[in-house]
Amino acid sequence: MAHSPIPLSRPDITEMEIEAVNHVLSTPYLSLGPELGNFEQALQTYCQTPYAIATSSGTAALHLCLRSLNLKPGDEVITTPFSFIASSNVLLFEHLVPVFVDIDPSSLNLDPKRVEQAITPKTKAILVVHAFGNPANMSALMDLAKKYNLRVIEDACEAIGSKWNGQNVGTFGDLGTLAFYPNKQMTTGEGGAVLTAKKELAETISCMRNQGRKPTGHWLDMEELGYNYRLSEMNCALGKTQVVRLPEILHKRTAVATRYDQMLGDDPNICLPPRTHHPADMSWFVYVVRLAPHFRLEHRESVFQKMAEAHIACGRYFAPIHLQPYYRRRFGYQRGMFPITEAAGDLGLALPFFNHLSQSQAERVCENLKAAIKEL
Ligand SMILES: *Cc1c(COP(=O)(O)O)cnc(C)c1O
Repeated sequence: MAHSPIPLSRPDITEMEIEAVNHVLSTPYLSLGPELGNFEQALQTYCQTPYAIATSSGTAALHLCLRSLNLKPGDEVITTPFSFIASSNVLLFEHLVPVFVDIDPSSLNLDPKRVEQAITPKTKAILVVHAFGNPANMSALMDLAKKYNLRVIEDACEAIGSKWNGQNVGTFGDLGTLAFYPNKQMTTGEGGAVLTAKKELAETISCMRNQGRKPTGHWLDMEELGYNYRLSEMNCALGKTQVVRLPEILHKRTAVATRYDQMLGDDPNICLPPRTHHPADMSWFVYVVRLAPHFRLEHRESVFQKMAEAHIACGRYFAPIHLQPYYRRRFGYQRGMFPITEAAGDLGLALPFFNHLSQSQAERVCENLKAAIKEL
């Protein structure tokens, strides 16, 4: 019997989203209309934070965060090499120096001990990433920020709804970001948002999002060096509806993750995804297993290949940032510099993961995965 392909991810769009977007199209407001405020309000309420500023992407949100902090070229920002490339690229956009430190092997997030060791007089900020939705240790990182007077930016682009000690990630630092690409927990097609409790930063960021315009000023008065990082009304209407559905969406994702845990937990060749904190507070972005430590990159590649032959899409998450060709060329990074990150990158395999992944699809994924590993 030929099996139908199982995709890596798939958005969850209902009639409600379709109606919300259609409604916008029958109004004259396709950008900077009422849905922008509605969406931002929904995010503020959901994340329990005073300000949310919607942007055209998660990368744009991160970029505005870095721009708003008045850092100077050459200032150092400590961050993780185990992330999606955007969290580091935005530092380069602003001529800041990314200082990578290796990750904690159990959480795959920034290791506070290594962060402290990397602090120099030039360090001005810590850019935390909550990888795969699993919260980083915000207690320890915020303590360091206080002790050394550093700014904190949280890349929560993979972690909407994840909590650390009951508080939403993305709301601990000066600024946090969310992202809404179609593979994220919730989507606006393209889109992102900045979260903050600081009024002044919120005003600067919403001004820079809209070409440097102040909300009270004239349309052609540009008060700041700005960008067009706006999010259209159609995207905002879609997002507003997805926020309403977030509790249901995250519940479904937890159920899929639990199903995988049960089927894979007894295989000594497979390490389950990291989760450092209270399981109920984890917002699942992706489900990334790792092959046991005695395996190598070529084994993961072989498993990846066999899964592809069985029409099961898997992902290689993350390709470490310091090993990307641009970073190697510019900074001279090589293999061996961040061994924990490299091992996680070499042995990680993201399994198909989306709200409607069925029991039989999950079984097919797990059977093929176990069989592929057995053949190594
Ligand atoms: C998705 C993501 C982003 C932002 O991505 P966009 O495609 O620009 O929305 C940033 N950081 C991390 C860690 C991400 O996973």
